Amino acid sequence: MKTTAQAVIIGGGVVGASVLYHLTKLGWSDVVLLERAELTSGSTWHAAGGFHTLNGDTNMAALQGYTIKLYRELEEITGLSCGLHHVGGVTLADNADRFDMLVAERAKHRYMGLETEIIGPEEIRKIAPITNTDGILGALYDPLDGHLDPSGTTHAYAKAARMGGATIETHTMVTATTQRADGTWDVVTDKGTIHTEHVVNAGGLWAREVAAMAGIYAPLHPMEHQYIVTDDVPEIVARDSEHPHVMDPAGESYLRQEGRGLCIGFYEQPCRPWAVDGTPWSFGAELLPDDLDKIEDSIEFAYNRFPALARAGVKTVVHGPFTFAPDGNPLVGPVPGMRGYWSACGVMAGFSQGGGVGLMLAQWMIHGECERDVTAMDVARFGGWITPGYTRPKVIENYQKRFSVAYPNEELPAARPHRTTPMYDIFTSHGAVWGHQYGLEVPNYFAQGDEPTFETPSFRRSDAFDAIAREVKGVRSNVGITEVHNFGKYRITGRHARAWLDRIMAGRIPKEGRISLTPMLSPKGKLLGDFTVSCTGENSFHLTASYGAQAQHMRWFLQHQEDGVSIENISDKLNGFSIAGPRATDLLAACTRDDTAMRFLDTRPMTIGQTACTVQRVSYTGDLGYEIYCDPMDQRALWTTLWTAGQPMGLSLFGMRAIMSLRLDRHFGSWMREFSPDYTAKETGMDRFIQWDKDFIGKEAAVADNPDRALVTFVVDATDTDVTAYEPIFLDDEVIGFCTSGGYSHHLGKSIAFGLIPKAQVAEGLRVEVELLGDRRPATLITTPLFDPDGSRLRA
Ligand SMILES: Cc1cc2nc3c(=O)[nH]c(=O)nc-3n(C[C@H](O)[C@H](O)[C@H](O)COP(=O)(O)OP(=O)(O)OC[C@H]3O[C@@H](n4cnc5c(N)ncnc54)[C@H](O)[C@@H]3O)c2cc1C
Repeated sequence: MKTTAQAVIIGGGVVGASVLYHLTKLGWSDVVLLERAELTSGSTWHAAGGFHTLNGDTNMAALQGYTIKLYRELEEITGLSCGLHHVGGVTLADNADRFDMLVAERAKHRYMGLETEIIGPEEIRKIAPITNTDGILGALYDPLDGHLDPSGTTHAYAKAARMGGATIETHTMVTATTQRADGTWDVVTDKGTIHTEHVVNAGGLWAREVAAMAGIYAPLHPMEHQYIVTDDVPEIVARDSEHPHVMDPAGESYLRQEGRGLCIGFYEQPCRPWAVDGTPWSFGAELLPDDLDKIEDSIEFAYNRFPALARAGVKTVVHGPFTFAPDGNPLVGPVPGMRGYWSACGVMAGFSQGGGVGLMLAQWMIHGECERDVTAMDVARFGGWITPGYTRPKVIENYQKRFSVAYPNEELPAARPHRTTPMYDIFTSHGAVWGHQYGLEVPNYFAQGDEPTFETPSFRRSDAFDAIAREVKGVRSNVGITEVHNFGKYRITGRHARAWLDRIMAGRIPKEGRISLTPMLSPKGKLLGDFTVSCTGENSFHLTASYGAQAQHMRWFLQHQEDGVSIENISDKLNGFSIAGPRATDLLAACTRDDTAMRFLDTRPMTIGQTACTVQRVSYTGDLGYEIYCDPMDQRALWTTLWTAGQPMGLSLFGMRAIMSLRLDRHFGSWMREFSPDYTAKETGMDRFIQWDKDFIGKEAAVADNPDRALVTFVVDATDTDVTAYEPIFLDDEVIGFCTSGGYSHHLGKSIAFGLIPKAQVAEGLRVEVELLGDRRPATLITTPLFDPDGSRLRA
């Protein structure tokens, strides 16, 4: 066995094999894969082998598309068969919400160039005749759906990788991974040790154990899963072409032809986590005992949907474990806080996603960044707050909801509340209806009177509409208060702090007492963050950005740390409140003896009541407003001061839903909506914050960038539903762009959407159409905010 390698991949399932292949494809040949048994010895060998593009996250869907198209390439390169059956598939909708969801998915596919189609019951019966369409409203047809041979495919990846110079050692068990002082790794096996710069955990069912060897917690959990293969089915035998896949979300089942019979698998409600205390090393290429009782209800439902099944005998039952992350997406990328340690695990759909995971990880390892935004599968989307006790109920919830309708305003209840601020009980007593962000409880809105204390999930305007309208009015007409805990916050200090920030951030770093807004770019000029930077002292800065991107931002900062710079994540060490509205200054003045005369983008220390605070003259509401930060231990005292002083003025509470409505009025974009690693500064207008006369990471690319699309704002003539994300934008029947986000502006009484369209088309008053739940709604481009167009109120 080799004793050195550029990269060592632990695990020879479909994911490890794909990573290995993609590393060679992108130019690394000194790469080794270590497999404790034979290739495919984990979940891979017993998978049903189905693949599809459908995924709520657009980038994940695109990567699934890449994976599916890759199989032909593998077959051509290696001469091996992946056992491909491109039979197409239908996903059924048995109720209006599910149909809405499929229609919305279809709309996204238009811009992505995926040839899916919405079909009615008659066509379903034509395409998939064994389906009983009673109660079915329609379906999404995807010609790319299909299945393959899991073992053949894994071996094709492996052969292609070997052809690219990679080495595969089977029957080689990794027993330890130890980091040397210089950051490189010793991967210790029962056959010797390999010294390497990069370790990839593709341990699948054993990924938790492999991660633990490096002192890492991998937030995933195995679940038991079962499918049945039948004897010959006459209706199938009689066909002269293969029957397509049928996904029946109501029955939580997926069905396909297998030989002359059928194969059907279930995501049953009485599901069971497997190997709760760890996957035994003794678990080999084996199955779990059949448990048809567990899926009894699902089978009965399936007998009604597919009557031919009821007449067929069961030939085989396959019951095995596979792993899930808490949100069901893979865990990919550099593990935060570690050098040279990469995650490629938690892949629950290895045959839909394995190719994309391999490609993205290889790009990340070799080029330092991926060609597209991979936040949905970035291992850093979970922070240090995640524990096995959180992961397990979330994984169970995810399994049970695998086929459920996913609503844009839905809040999933498992493992909550997990993290709360000192305001939790106070806000609850004020009617807080809670949402969830990066493990933290965040108030969505505050229900009063007979307003709903639970927001019913919906694709249309929700039953919280009136409550949100009331909160927006409170801000715009008077003064409102909300918590500002859910920002990622960082303290940058040290003698080189300013110089370092100047290099890391593309924008201007402010003078003491001032605040600036700046994008942070990757070397390829992609947006890595939109930051607010405050200079609180000569060598002292306070940064705020998206709360959910904390681990990603810290990973980037630490990768680029230099001597003389100290970087601290203080996201949970500074809490506070945002007060906003025309009377915000009156409220502030009523609470302090300090001078409250501040210009827009000023920052200064202040004593508010009895609490030492830092006050910033900024507000994401687009209104006159302040962010007031303090030590979390002081937060309740600060609250009492502000709330008490605000009562005579009619101070009111507002939550996240109101904030997301208020920001529309001033065309404020939002991280992971308008701004994400999919976009550049020039595309999104963030270039207006760039300081071009200095050097910064990504400058060369940003200078050279000459995008042909631009972010713009539309007023949409919507009825009862607003833009959420990725709805196509039509001009004269042609899709010219897509929406990044939108919503209802309660203050303006208008539906607003942001979207990317060709730069050449941008013109005030351009009339387009935006597809909302299958309905093309007229929309008009506006270049100036309808609220406070000259910013005089914001800067008052
Ligand atoms: C019943 C069932 C049906 C499924 N059907 C589908 C389907 O239709 N479509 C689909 O896309 N997915 C399906 N899946 C999921 C699919 O099987 C997984 O997504 C996929 O196999 C994950 O592959 P992996 O490489 O991440 O992990 P694994 O296949 O578990 O591979 C991990 C490998 O790492 C090796 N390893 C671990 N630790 C060490 C160590 N210390 N040293 C050396 N080697 C080590 C193991 O031996 C193993 O070979 C199904 C799963 C089940 C259980």
